[in-house]
Amino acid sequence: MHDPEKGLLIVISGPSGVGKGTICRELFNKYDDIIYSVSTTTRKPRPGEVEGKHYFFTTEEEFQKLIAQDAFLEWAQVYGNYYGTPRQYVEEILQAGKDCILEIDIQGALQVKQKMPEGIFIFVVPPSLQELIRRITCRGTEDPSEIEKRMSQVSEEMSHLQDYDYIVVNDEVPSAVEQVRAIIVAERCRSSRMCKLINMEV
Ligand code: 5GP
Repeated sequence: MHDPEKGLLIVISGPSGVGKGTICRELFNKYDDIIYSVSTTTRKPRPGEVEGKHYFFTTEEEFQKLIAQDAFLEWAQVYGNYYGTPRQYVEEILQAGKDCILEIDIQGALQVKQKMPEGIFIFVVPPSLQELIRRITCRGTEDPSEIEKRMSQVSEEMSHLQDYDYIVVNDEVPSAVEQVRAIIVAERCRSSRMCKLINMEV
């Protein structure tokens, strides 16, 4: 059961290129009551990516040390690189009563679900496979072999849809952003959460 005084943990997954990052960025720009967790990765920065804003970039050796220190809420190897969610940062946000979004892959989401089943799990899908391929190609941040690697995982990733609470089709970004926002607002109003909060105040 979710402690109503704690913030909500929102987990967003979906295939590479579907627009999860764009949705999270828009949410973050538009609403200041949701905090975005910055992951640690061994992937090389893309042009324009900023240390501490998009990711904390690190070496594989350093990443292994962080695993040994139990510094991650979850971690996984995705498309050949390591990615992990900093445990302490997320716990502090939730403890302060603020909602936190993790944009992570399915392996990581399943780990979080085991540890924090009260989380809200959202899967973002593209309107079609052709559109997904078009988006990742137009993004221009991966070379053809990397695109191939990412696209080869799509059907496996889509087979986990039933592990998520909500599915959002990212056809138009503003609509997808509002759908994710609506899910978060509705979850804040859940009777199981509100009853406890109201009782506490009476
Ligand atoms: P990208 O290299 O495109 O930034 O991210 C590749 C994949 O790694 C995406 O599916 C993204 O959601 C996922 N990812 C990013 N950060 C984390 C993390 O902290 N943990 C896990 N498990 N996956 C992550």
